[in-house]
Amino acid sequence: MKNTALPAQRFVELVSRGDVSALEHCHNICEEIEKKNKKFHHFNFFDKKSVIAQAEALEKEIIKGRRGRLLGVPVSVKDCLCIKGMESRTGSKILSGYKPTFNATAAQRAIDEGAIILGKTSQDEFGFGTFSVNHTADIMMGGEHIGNGVPLNPLDAGRSCGGSSGGAAGFAALTEHTHIALAESTGGSIACPASFCGMASITPTYGLVSRYGLMDYANSLDKVGAIGKSIGDVALLLDVVRGRDERDSTSLDSQKIELQGTGKNSADKSGHGVKNMKIGIPSELMDSIENKKVKGVVLKKIEAAERLGAVVQEVSMPLNTKYGVSVYYLIAMAEASTNLAKYCGMRYGFAKKLEGNFNEYFSAVRSEAFGEEAKRRIMLGTFARMSGFRDAYYLRAMKARTKLISEFRQVFSKVDLIAHPAMPITAPRFSEIEKLTPLEHYAADLCTVPANLAGMPHATINAGEVDGLPVGLMVVGYHLDDGKVLSLAASLEGGQ
Ligand code: GLN
Repeated sequence: MKNTALPAQRFVELVSRGDVSALEHCHNICEEIEKKNKKFHHFNFFDKKSVIAQAEALEKEIIKGRRGRLLGVPVSVKDCLCIKGMESRTGSKILSGYKPTFNATAAQRAIDEGAIILGKTSQDEFGFGTFSVNHTADIMMGGEHIGNGVPLNPLDAGRSCGGSSGGAAGFAALTEHTHIALAESTGGSIACPASFCGMASITPTYGLVSRYGLMDYANSLDKVGAIGKSIGDVALLLDVVRGRDERDSTSLDSQKIELQGTGKNSADKSGHGVKNMKIGIPSELMDSIENKKVKGVVLKKIEAAERLGAVVQEVSMPLNTKYGVSVYYLIAMAEASTNLAKYCGMRYGFAKKLEGNFNEYFSAVRSEAFGEEAKRRIMLGTFARMSGFRDAYYLRAMKARTKLISEFRQVFSKVDLIAHPAMPITAPRFSEIEKLTPLEHYAADLCTVPANLAGMPHATINAGEVDGLPVGLMVVGYHLDDGKVLSLAASLEGGQ
């Protein structure tokens, strides 16, 4: 797909100078959503009136001299992040009608820099999935029900956008306008859809962005990040939203990290941070990817780094390759099963007529409003942490997680960054997804779960195509090396 949209930074310059009207741009992008969302389902909540109202208010302030690093930039928000007054359901029927009374910190920081919030993007229910097919929230446009459709890949509507941030990546690829998506990853939900839709993405170090206002999937794994048309765009949004927040005790003070500009560790295209950079290719992971064409495209892209002076070498990460998926799913499901206990038809969203005792009522609500995958994860997660099984499953997975992190540490004592395909496949057809067992779904996350389990920052860029479908390259760095990760990704994006 041809990219005709202005990079966000350039757009902001033009809006600040009065050469581009933020309001007119906003009208155009809203028109595009109205025209295309009924087919593609990238937004599950969109209300043109409220978007235009924000843009009109901003336009008045711009005339009075308001400036900001995201001045007039339309930002879409993954459904799991709370936005004041906008139905926020994290892709689930069980949150139908829930309208938060506050903004998630990440969204608020974007708004403070002049961003316009476009709407809520579709996702797998609570982030439970890799293809966005586990979406159970109805699509609402201007107060109207548009049914319940999964987001479709703009490159081929018969294929998945990936997941769980499917709507975010799908719309980033579809739009002809300047836009950046705020997304979330627990085990790969940013890297996967970005890869399937040919977009750039950043999943930061765990804690770099506040989780306040994020509807939790698994607290020790959830990270807010960005998807967009270029590394420059996602680096800009991350730079705006990151930083310590008193409302999230796991958020980090990251003032010293440089993410943008022309510094050694920053995201620029010149490639000057890349010379002499050591890049590791994990051999066991590469061996376990069956699709040779996908590997070929990614390795060719890595050769471009060598031409810029990087030193590429093989590294060994057998434990992450062998145990990553099992450890991730045990921990993620255990945490998810406790997080989902609060949805019982009393406090948020979906409710029924109060009947029977509390057990009967909660069961009736949860049976009706949770999807099949959410129920599977509640049962498996509860089982893994039940007394009698906890030592064998949950605690053992926690110990294994520590081992997997040490393996990363060892590798990062030898190389600066690790690079490999983001997904072992290209975007599958919905007819192929239907045939997969739950275990086959989980196995598709082979490449993304290790970095997510270890809380390591990772960026993805489009490396090229296999049979006309995009293939993503994933660059992983050590904790707080987000700038280095973005820098390599920026110097490799586009081109050959
Ligand atoms: N596919 C993974 C899962 O289902 C990751 C999802 C995510 O990062 N939210 O858990």
